[in-house]
Amino acid sequence: MEQKLFVYNTLTRKKEEFIPLNPGHVGMYVCGPTVYSDVHIGNCRTFISFDLIFRYLLHLGYKVRYVRNITDAGHLEGDSDEGEDKVSKKAKIAQLEPMEIVQKYTVDFHSVMQVFNALPPSIEPTATGHIIEQIELVKDILAKGYAYEVDGSVYFDVEKYNQTQDYGILNGRKLEDMLNNTRSLGGQNEKHGKLDFALWIKAKPEHLMKWPSPWGMGFPGWHLECSAMSNKYLGHQFDIHGGGIDLMPTHHTNEIAQNVACCGKNPASYWLHTNMLTTNGQKMSKSLGNSFLPHELFLGAHPLLKKGYSPMTVRFFFMQASYRSTVDFSNEAIEAAEIFYKKLAETAKKLAVLQQNAVTGVDEETDKAINEFCDDCYHSMNDNFNSPKTLEALNNLSKWINSYSANTRNSGEITAATFERMKKTYNDFFFDVLGLKQDDNENADTDDLMNLVIKLRNEAKANKDYATSDKIREGLKNIGFQLNDNKQGTTDWIRI
Ligand code: AMP
Ligand code: ZN
Repeated sequence: MEQKLFVYNTLTRKKEEFIPLNPGHVGMYVCGPTVYSDVHIGNCRTFISFDLIFRYLLHLGYKVRYVRNITDAGHLEGDSDEGEDKVSKKAKIAQLEPMEIVQKYTVDFHSVMQVFNALPPSIEPTATGHIIEQIELVKDILAKGYAYEVDGSVYFDVEKYNQTQDYGILNGRKLEDMLNNTRSLGGQNEKHGKLDFALWIKAKPEHLMKWPSPWGMGFPGWHLECSAMSNKYLGHQFDIHGGGIDLMPTHHTNEIAQNVACCGKNPASYWLHTNMLTTNGQKMSKSLGNSFLPHELFLGAHPLLKKGYSPMTVRFFFMQASYRSTVDFSNEAIEAAEIFYKKLAETAKKLAVLQQNAVTGVDEETDKAINEFCDDCYHSMNDNFNSPKTLEALNNLSKWINSYSANTRNSGEITAATFERMKKTYNDFFFDVLGLKQDDNENADTDDLMNLVIKLRNEAKANKDYATSDKIREGLKNIGFQLNDNKQGTTDWIRI
């Protein structure tokens, strides 16, 4: 079967055939989390969407180098060049070292990704681990004449860049329009132009995370780390650059400008953006207070939730929409996802033990229909990773698998090759591509999940947040888990 993959490229605003720079290989960079607090379910949606993309590229046989960074320095409150570093701010409040904050939230992020069955990236570099590379990049951009230094800080000169390049190439906006619609922000007295952004920021004496540089003690601007790390691990040009759509207008626009300025090249051929998870139509976000955390969703421990939903139900819920559509969270929608997920998971169980009856005579029409549903799995994923259509195709296959399993139809009515293809396609797409797995009877996963929940509850107790800790205990009880508390806190649990 011919397999041309088409992806929607934000850069060209159209669907294009995916042709990697090096045949058989894919370089993919995705902006990772800023590890200063727990990831909410919206962040998880973005990372799960890229996990789907990663998994499908692997399924097609590509050798994929997937780089997803950890932002542990340089990301200021308000996402601009103003305010405190998010990590340092949290460290001061918690009276901890910034690296203790980074460690805690990185470990938690990994546990959450594991619970959602997301594959780890090939490389997960950190901003603090690449200060030297970032300084080199600033030097390079200065040498090329696209940046200037003022009193220990270095800024990118957007208007100068736009004289020869198109600064708005990704967001599709004209420079004048952007200038007219931009407020004066931090460092404005130092910046030559309103849109200029910091490559390197001079550290105030009380600033916790700072490094020596040719411009004095300071720290890198947020946009710089992704250019430095993608350059280092994927080269000046690679195939896919991804992130949430909210990163596109500024963070990714600036990343392109930095790369073109230093290396003369837009770093990625295809820019892929995931859309937002919303609650009541509003983007889910920490600052708006309308977000909930993975464990709250698993336990139903949030006023917006009627009950808890398993990680695989949540993953399935995300797969029911294209990664480019917004998804509005509602109990009704996720309840429907739960029913659908259980149905397809049940089919996978039946399929695992299904043996074909002896082929007695092939029903051409059925044989053709089953082959077409198998083709549909590929067609849908080849059409910009259209997972809802893939689920539809699996649902169609599921109807046949269930009738063969119940013997309401004779599985000997299709060829042995079609039977094997049906089995392989269903398993490949359900488990490997969509990244789903069985929810129950998987003790190892339950252990991971319970360890995560117990850890979060112990933290809540340590912070004297007894309301949350009680909510977790009650929520778990309602779904059949009893926590055993002892002097050390909660260390184990039983099913009740
Ligand atoms: P941050 O840690 O804030 O840098 O965000 C990590 C990733 O989550 C980024 O790619 C964001 O675009 C993405 N993100 C943030 N909010 C949402 C949301 N409500 N829905 C989907 N993705 C989101
Ligand atoms: Zn980035």
